Amino acid sequence: MRLILILLLTFSVFQNASSNQKDSSHKETPQFFQAKKISVEQLMTEVHQRIDKWNWDKSLFPKTGWKENGQSVFGRPLIYWTCGNPKNANVSLFLSAVHGDEVTPVYFGFRLVEWIKARPELCEDSFIVVAPLVNPDGFLRYTNGTRTNYNKVDLNRNFDTPEWDANALKIWKQKYGSQRRYFPGDRKASEPEIHFQKWLLEEFKPSKVLSIHAPLNHLDFDGPITDEAQKFTQEYIKSCDYLKKVLEEAKTGLRVLAYGTFPGSLGNYAGRLKGIPTITVELPTIDHRQAGNYFSNMEKGLHVFVKYKIENRPSSLAKE
Ligand SMILES: [Zn+2]
Repeated sequence: MRLILILLLTFSVFQNASSNQKDSSHKETPQFFQAKKISVEQLMTEVHQRIDKWNWDKSLFPKTGWKENGQSVFGRPLIYWTCGNPKNANVSLFLSAVHGDEVTPVYFGFRLVEWIKARPELCEDSFIVVAPLVNPDGFLRYTNGTRTNYNKVDLNRNFDTPEWDANALKIWKQKYGSQRRYFPGDRKASEPEIHFQKWLLEEFKPSKVLSIHAPLNHLDFDGPITDEAQKFTQEYIKSCDYLKKVLEEAKTGLRVLAYGTFPGSLGNYAGRLKGIPTITVELPTIDHRQAGNYFSNMEKGLHVFVKYKIENRPSSLAKE
């Protein structure tokens, strides 16, 4: 009996020690940041304040009409908007402002929602999801925003791709000289904004994804690849690849470039790992005065992207 008591006591001390250890690893994030819950209206008020100095039409940034799923590290809501019937097979997912200091994509994402609202025919035979501000903390932090999120993690390097453990930190040190703005995180998929994007992919099963960045001035494609298991048919891969071609023909003004994939990037996770064709648009600059022009240049491309139906999609990727 005495022995059992000692064992129990030892076990509970050990448990406390390990939970303390767990807590102490997060001590850099002040407690109230995790608990704070900011409403969508408060978030949009902050956005209005942030863009006040620019000549952007504020009616493109409405305070209502948003859905939310989860919150950023700081406690801001992670917002999205949808239109059409979720049962439609043709599902487009748009992500913008993954990097908070890239301001032309912020304008792009919000204007895109208003642009679609004015063209209800785009939603008739499809389902469209737009998450215009994936990284609200990065956009609203300091005067010019930060690329990373509140934990200073690059949200385009933190997805849990298979080679993350072996390579993410190694590449960050070797290729990026440990620059903070490309930090992939201490652990893969550690950030709430990554969980939000993964949730969008799981929940809506998009047949294609378009993510808007700046300022590299190109269009990149990541898609399904034929692996040993022959997970995807050649017809499906061809249909995904063709999306790149029709976008090029829509004259977006952006050069098509294979930029390469990084551990933990969206293209790597959604495109290569999940097999969903994923287009990354890099607008030419982050000059806020050019934001409207960049959107106009992409209008035809956006139309083509929404309308494009991926063929021979494997049932494993589609909705039930
Ligand atoms: Zn970016």
